[in-house]
Amino acid sequence: MLAATVATDARGQDARALARAGTAAIDDHRFGDALAVFTEAAAMRPADPSLCFGAGVAAFMLGQDEVARSRFECALALNPGYRSAALWLGDLHYRAGRLEEAISICEAALRRSPRDRELQERVASWRKEQDLQSRFHAVRTDHFTVLFEAADGEPLARQVLERLEAAYSRVGRALGVYPSQPITAVVYSRGQFDEITKLTAWSVAAYDGRIRVPFNGALEQRDELDRVLSHEFVHALVAMLGGRNVPAWVNEGLATALEPTGTVDADPTLARSDMRLGLAQLHGSFAGLSRRDAEIAYASAARAVRRLIDQRGAGVVVGLLEDLSRGVPFTIAFQQRIAMRYEDFAQSLVTDH
Ligand SMILES: [Zn+2]
Repeated sequence: MLAATVATDARGQDARALARAGTAAIDDHRFGDALAVFTEAAAMRPADPSLCFGAGVAAFMLGQDEVARSRFECALALNPGYRSAALWLGDLHYRAGRLEEAISICEAALRRSPRDRELQERVASWRKEQDLQSRFHAVRTDHFTVLFEAADGEPLARQVLERLEAAYSRVGRALGVYPSQPITAVVYSRGQFDEITKLTAWSVAAYDGRIRVPFNGALEQRDELDRVLSHEFVHALVAMLGGRNVPAWVNEGLATALEPTGTVDADPTLARSDMRLGLAQLHGSFAGLSRRDAEIAYASAARAVRRLIDQRGAGVVVGLLEDLSRGVPFTIAFQQRIAMRYEDFAQSLVTDH
């Protein structure tokens, strides 16, 4: 009896130590380590919802959505009032285009805390989007579904579908890899797009699990439509290959460098300005940048990725992304795949621009 109690206590302490290590790994963006230790800790203390939740967050960041979903559901089964687990699971469903599930998870959480402002806003905005989407029509191929509102929008939707297929073939050939699942694109008016994505005025489209395109006059020009759809298609591919922990410069750089005219455009943008952004400044999202800083950020990122592809080949960049989704920390994956220290590569871009 005594021996058993001691063993249980030791296991409890081990699990707590593992949970601390898991939290530290999440703080350091070492999501592979975090998933491993939270999974081990949860096996020791299966009734502790916070261990399921920690594993869920790590899996979500690695883009392992099925694992993340089961871990968040486990946390909510153990503690139905677990607010963070509800928010993360709702977000996961939302990004996968499962609006109804997303809403019902957050509504259940809201019934428990009716005054929770964040939950209220989220449910209200998702309901509005669901209402809008219920009026949408769809056209599809094996690789894409395009949603659009007005019945007379079908010719444009078909053009979007056709341009996405063109990007699929062209980018697929360039990288030697194709998306593992079909991709959804939604065509909005500018007003609908702004309300749903809440992005800065300079953004011309977005990817958050679905490609979202505001239709405006510029997209009537075929080159611009091609550029925007190709760019967002690459983001969808990067998310499938590398998860959600890919540095912004790799993600945006690849999307920009693989635009139909991407290689040509980066250099004049950089030549026009003295401003330079080092790669270390380009790990986080570009969404908060001013229009001018964003231009430099995209051009710098495209130039860095172009250099990687020219020096090592596109397959190596794909391998780097796959390492990230397996949880290999970026600087280690970079050094292994590119056969160069990340700091040296970053420095090489600063010294010879
Ligand atoms: Zn982008």
